[in-house]
This record gives sequence, C-alpha cells and structure tokens, in this order.
Amino acid sequence: MTARVWFALNIREPETRHTADISDDVSVILDDFAPVAVEDLQPLPLPPGGLWDPTFPPIPEPPPSSLAWRVFFASADDRSRAAGALRTSFPGLSLVEEDVDDEDWATRSQRGLTAITAGRVIVAPPWAVPASVPPDHTLVVIEPSHGFGTGHHASTRLCLRALSTMDVSGLRVLDLGTGSGVLAMAAALRGAARVVAVDVDADAIAAARASQALNAGPSSVTWIVADYRDTPLLPALAGGWDVVLANLTAGMLCSSAARIRAFIAPAGVLIASGFDESECADVLDALDVRPEQLLKEDGWVGLTARR
Ligand code: SAH
Repeated sequence: MTARVWFALNIREPETRHTADISDDVSVILDDFAPVAVEDLQPLPLPPGGLWDPTFPPIPEPPPSSLAWRVFFASADDRSRAAGALRTSFPGLSLVEEDVDDEDWATRSQRGLTAITAGRVIVAPPWAVPASVPPDHTLVVIEPSHGFGTGHHASTRLCLRALSTMDVSGLRVLDLGTGSGVLAMAAALRGAARVVAVDVDADAIAAARASQALNAGPSSVTWIVADYRDTPLLPALAGGWDVVLANLTAGMLCSSAARIRAFIAPAGVLIASGFDESECADVLDALDVRPEQLLKEDGWVGLTARR
C-alpha cells in the first residue's frame, strides 16, 4: 500500500510587503477549496522576558508579522485552484507546492505550540520545555496529539489557575474528561495523594499515558477509559472526592449535574469550565453548588464551588 500524500501549499508573504494583517482575507479565499489543515510556519515567539503568562494583564500583543502558512489539501486539484485564486488576489505572495507524506503531519501541524503559564502551572510540549521553572511553579509536559488540553484553550487555563490557588497535597482528585491528562497530572505533580482521570476517548487516554511518561513523578494517576455518566465501576470513593475537575461543556455539566455533584465530598471542591458567561447561571443552577470563585478568560468561565 502506498503511503498517503497530502498536497501542501506553502504561502509566504515577503517581509517587505507586509503592511497589514492579510490572514483573514487569505483564509476566506482558502475556505472555498476545503483545506484540511493549516500549519503556521511562524509560531508566536516567546517574549524576551520569558514565558508569556496569559493570566496576568497586560497581555502582550504578538508583534505584527508577515504571513507564513503551510496549507494542506486533499487533492492536487484543490491546491492548484487555491493557488490560482490567491495569485489573483495577492500577486505578491510566494506560493510553493509541496507533497507531504502522511506520516506525521498532524503532529507537525502542532509543532508551533509553545509553553504557556496558567496560574502556577506551566504546560509545555516536549520541544519547548523551559530551562528553569520558578520554585513555586509546576511544569507539566504534554505531547500534543489526540487529547484536548495543551493549555492553549482558555478553559484548560482557567482550571489550572483555579487549581493553582489550592493546596491539593494529600487530597483525592477526580478528573472527569481528562483529555490530554493535563489537569490530572498538574494535580498529581502538586502533591495530590490519589488522582483518577476518566475519558470516554481511548485515544486520549493512551496519549495521556504517553505524556505521563514525560513527567517525573505523577505515578499516582489512574487512567480510566469510561463514560463517567454511566460507568458504575468508576471508583466511587466512599464519602466522595476532595477535588472534582470537570472541564466539559455546559450541556454535559447540566445533563449530568447530579452525578457530578455526587462525586464531590461534603467538604470537597468542584473546579469546572468549558462553558461561557451566558451559560454560567444554568450550570450553577443545575449543579446546585455554592460558587466560591468565578474566573474569566476569552468569554469562558472557570468555576470553583463547594457543595
Ligand atoms: N481536561 C482537559 C480536557 C477537556 S476536553 C482540559 O482541561 O484541557 C473534554 C474531554 O472530556 C474530552 O477529552 C472528551 O473526550 C471528554 N468527555 C466528554 N464527555 C465525556 C463523558 N461523558 N465521559 C468521559 N469523558 C468525556
């Protein structure tokens, strides 16, 4: 069997021509030709002072830079038609066709990811591990792959920020919808005594296990492939969990609110995200919990609550 080839178009805007951000206009043109993926060849640089902490304003605006993308198409025909349309609208762009073997383009498309800091947790892909970590910070290395949760989504960062404000040492932590395992590993590395992480997606759990191997220490995580809503075997600790993490969606939080609430120990804490400000009241209502803290970022909410 021959390996699949993806039809890539490398689009570069010469520095000398860069006056305004053309990425939106280029995207609109590309959309007509069903691009499969876009790889940014010019990832955001880290600021000179070190890691960019999105939790502390002012958030530095990325410096204006010229566009450099590799766009993947499913057919050579889509690619050449896209190139033709771009040439008409943006005659100054450099357009170079490249055939890319299937092997690892999904991974390569994430190669531009850098480390992020959320509260006192730094999440880094293996190629961007910071040389030093402040003593009160925790580094979690995540190999970006199948599971959601590289720290590049506000909902993950909100959970990490909430987790950072707590002392979880010695506590029992349940992570519902663990994705990449980032929250579970952060809790384990910050001293939780026992962490159980659940995801319905077996590929996500496999990726989380692989990332665990990159992190010294978090051996206390138990990974489970399950739907937390209807898995009676989910290790329900008598008395509940000290900390329940649930970065899901408003719909999921509301429809399984009673189950989630039942996991929380009477004196336990829920950290939840994955919903926006307009959904917050419904989520609080359904969960029937007492909010202690509501963090916000990019319109997303990070809730810390008690029963
Ligand atoms: N905890 C990570 C990932 C959140 S994405 C982070 O904070 O970044 C939500 C995850 O929940 C996805 O990986 C999805 O597969 C999982 N999920 C959704 N519904 C689920 C369910 N009913 N049972 C278990 N996992 C579920």
